Amino acid sequence: MKIKLSEEDRLFSLYIRNKANGICEHCKKVKGVKRLQASHYFGRRNKALRWDEKNVSALCFTCHMVVMTENPHYHTKWMEKKLGKVGFRKLTLASNKLKKWTKDELKELRASLRKKLKEYN
Ligand SMILES: [Zn+2]
Repeated sequence: MKIKLSEEDRLFSLYIRNKANGICEHCKKVKGVKRLQASHYFGRRNKALRWDEKNVSALCFTCHMVVMTENPHYHTKWMEKKLGKVGFRKLTLASNKLKKWTKDELKELRASLRKKLKEYN
């Protein structure tokens, strides 16, 4: 289901894909930053984790839309391996929290993402 992408989403996605150096975190193929996708484990509707690095992986189209989206159980197993059992449990617990972002917090988030992105330019 499509939801509107904000400037935070755009910056965050770019950061996640740059951080991965353009390499798919799952199949390890070199795809380049532009061809990777930022894949959320808990979907973007979850505001507590929408811009949480632990919740998002840089994946190629096939790994994102075929491997993970069509196999939620496999996606979960893979996330557990990536984050570790404890890390995955923490993420799951954090997903139950309700988070409302204030305008100032979003402004801060954008500034922080822009700063992180500068390291990759
Ligand atoms: Zn892949």
